[in-house]
Amino acid sequence: MQFLRESILELIIQTSTNLPPDVRKAMGWALRSENPQTQSGRALAIIGENIDMAHEDEGAICQDTGMPTFEIKTPVGVNQITLRKQALEAIAEATRRGKLRPNSVDSITGRNSGNNLGPGTPIFHFEQWEKPEIEVRLILKGGGCENKNIQYSVPCQLEHLGRADRDLEGIRKCILHSVWQAQGQGCAPGAIGVCIGSDRAGGYHLAKQQLFRTLDDTNSDPVLAKLEQDIMEQANKLGVGTMGFGGSTSLIGCKITAANRLPASFFVTVAYDCWAFRRLGVLLDAETGAITQWLYRDPDRAVERLISAGTGFHLTGREIRLEPPLNEQQVRALRVGDVVLINGPMVTGRDAVHHYLLHHDTPHDMHGAILYHCGPVMLKENNEWRVKAAGPTTSIREEPYEADIIQRFGPRAVMGKGGMGAKTAAALKEFGAVYLHAIGGAAQFYARCLPKVRDVFLLEELGIPEAMWVLEAHNFPAIVTMDSQGGSLHAEVSASTGAELEAVAKR
Ligand code: SF4
Repeated sequence: MQFLRESILELIIQTSTNLPPDVRKAMGWALRSENPQTQSGRALAIIGENIDMAHEDEGAICQDTGMPTFEIKTPVGVNQITLRKQALEAIAEATRRGKLRPNSVDSITGRNSGNNLGPGTPIFHFEQWEKPEIEVRLILKGGGCENKNIQYSVPCQLEHLGRADRDLEGIRKCILHSVWQAQGQGCAPGAIGVCIGSDRAGGYHLAKQQLFRTLDDTNSDPVLAKLEQDIMEQANKLGVGTMGFGGSTSLIGCKITAANRLPASFFVTVAYDCWAFRRLGVLLDAETGAITQWLYRDPDRAVERLISAGTGFHLTGREIRLEPPLNEQQVRALRVGDVVLINGPMVTGRDAVHHYLLHHDTPHDMHGAILYHCGPVMLKENNEWRVKAAGPTTSIREEPYEADIIQRFGPRAVMGKGGMGAKTAAALKEFGAVYLHAIGGAAQFYARCLPKVRDVFLLEELGIPEAMWVLEAHNFPAIVTMDSQGGSLHAEVSASTGAELEAVAKR
């Protein structure tokens, strides 16, 4: 098996940097169906550019390179212990090369292992089969969309939809609700894998396995095929849109399976994956470990660019330039819907920094600053830190802390994705600050807007993604989605899509 490690390393790198053709096709369809002048249309243009950049430069599509999950089938006689060992080495090497972000964190101590290895990471599922080759499929599913997975125990009451019973209509309501509740926080447009039945743990496993189907296949069960089609049509009438900005494309795929259940239990389980739907596979020679075939790809078809000349993200001249440190007057003049271009320093801080600041002073002055919810991929090149991938993370996780941070340390803007809650909204109003929305997953696009690293704090204690990085921004675009007057695009879209959910369910 002399080629095994290199083959798995190549699989990991390709999965992290190059979306499979079926996902590209679905994103191309999303791009064409959205009005390019809208917030969703502009966000999609950035996403399209990001997908092209990631492929061309072999960079991580999103800075959250997710939980690596391997589904492996081996012929009888293949040593699965060797296979696992080689896959672990490949994961560590991909991390060292910056193709994966160090994402494995000790749940008790909070320590990042630094190489994506640790108890429970990565995930392996082995199976034997009667074919002569080895099949390795890999999915990299990020935390933002993982947090939007949901399991319903029917019968249940659903917001906007009423009672969901133990029948096809109840199942349909649960699935539509799952798309609605995700809003933009899972980086819509997303794809869902669904399991009807099984037990709680089996439901999540089988739902995630559905994500290994191609987005354009047809379910072999005609009842489920019809349900998948109905969900696609109805979910795309809700109006969640890209990143929850409102728009016509909310879902790029719906894949459903059914499993038997106990008479007392009836679960509908949904695994939500974001637009950065990274899934690939290979067949390997069982003697040498060499790749004999790529799965999900047509070797004769070149990778097609998503953005053709002139169709990418354009500045309109109406963007508002922000150069931190910001003052109160400047920030209070901003309104929901304004597009801003940031030039100058911004400081990153996500879960661990927010927790740290509860009990400590800030190591970097944040008065007038833009606090960016981001866990970047960073590499040291010629003794200097470089930003390799740097899109926003889901902001709502910082909701318990953010109002206090704004009051104590004085940032004038917090930036992330998915919006924040009532406590932060009140702090924005009281202290004069705004919430800026960057485009989730656009890690390569934004890395190019962050040409310089000014400083880093708490690196030793918190690890690369959680450290406080002071980055120099150059024409970094973002959208004001919560302002200091109480305006919130997220509240607006949640209300309008909720009303649409009621209407869709009645049809
Ligand atoms: S695109 Fe969004 S949800 Fe997906 S991995 Fe990246 S940050 Fe997470």
